[in-house]
Amino acid sequence: MILLDNSLSELTEIFNDVKPYKVKQLYSWLVKGYNFDEMTDLSKEWRKKLAEEHIACPVTLFRRFESKDGTQKFLYKLSDSNIIEGVLMKYKYGNTLCVSTQVGCRMGCNFCASTLQGLIRNLTTGEILGQVTAVNRFMGGDTKERQITNIVLMGSGEPLDNFDNTIKFLQLVNDKQGLNISMRNISLSTCGIPPEMIALADLNFQINLTISLHSPTQQKRRQIMPISESYPLTSVIEAAKYYFNKTGRRIIFEYVLIEGVNDSEEDAKQLSKLTRDMSCHVNLIKLNPVKERSLKPTNTDNAKQFAKKLTELGVSNTIRRQIGVDIEGACGQLRRRIINDE
Ligand code: SAH
Repeated sequence: MILLDNSLSELTEIFNDVKPYKVKQLYSWLVKGYNFDEMTDLSKEWRKKLAEEHIACPVTLFRRFESKDGTQKFLYKLSDSNIIEGVLMKYKYGNTLCVSTQVGCRMGCNFCASTLQGLIRNLTTGEILGQVTAVNRFMGGDTKERQITNIVLMGSGEPLDNFDNTIKFLQLVNDKQGLNISMRNISLSTCGIPPEMIALADLNFQINLTISLHSPTQQKRRQIMPISESYPLTSVIEAAKYYFNKTGRRIIFEYVLIEGVNDSEEDAKQLSKLTRDMSCHVNLIKLNPVKERSLKPTNTDNAKQFAKKLTELGVSNTIRRQIGVDIEGACGQLRRRIINDE
């Protein structure tokens, strides 16, 4: 069993033949990213038994790339040898880790590298949490002095397509006796699955909800995001409004600028119409071209013009600074190259 799949109270239940304070010691090692042989205040016999039956570190760092701008990209190995990736971004206020929720993805967005091989499998709660514990430890952090202050669920996979494990991850990473990362410092990015967006709103976790919009009309959106065949744009916007009304958290829209696809003045006008009565912010992102696709990024001047138009129309927006481009920072790109090369 992956022990990080469990809360402290669940572990106490599982190891009910062990004194609760020992289970608490075990838990505090697990959330700091330690393996059984390093848990020095537990008896050798119990550690041996644990190691035979369970997994302490479900995610191990196996490659690391550092960008000129300080962004780090990690490749992790899972216990079944699947590979996932993560990105650590340094900001003035702290370090943000971009976390994956699935191996691959089945959403099929046509600008994204994560989806090229489809969904391989969901990550367990412990495998999502294990990315955070592994990088926090690697950076010299523990539960008191955290080296990861913020989390974005924007790695490979669709978090709302792995709903239960993602929700439990949010609860565990926020646990006071664990890493205790504030919900307000966590953003979940979705391609827009209304039933799960509503279920998430009803939990009122205070996380930021980010929606990958990428297009202001249904007709255009369905051409780049197949998910909108099942869930049209109007239902996504309705669910976004519901999320805001329930939680009071401003919605963030992600908008990848693709040349000739979604970057015209008309697109900007449509986007302002769509978001007119919403409390929201639009993040404009220049497409990171994926080798297997023919889409091109909007050039810098046009991106600036698009942003300016949005501002004139009263839409709060920023062009996101591109970071880690030299290490293939976008979703799924690095994993793909490494797997293809090796
Ligand atoms: N499935 C979720 C989370 C993963 S993708 C979602 O769709 O939101 C998160 C973000 O990665 C997307 O919104 C997009 O902003 C970014 N992304 C994916 N492929 C990209 C690319 N080729 N270039 C730039 N950004 C990309």
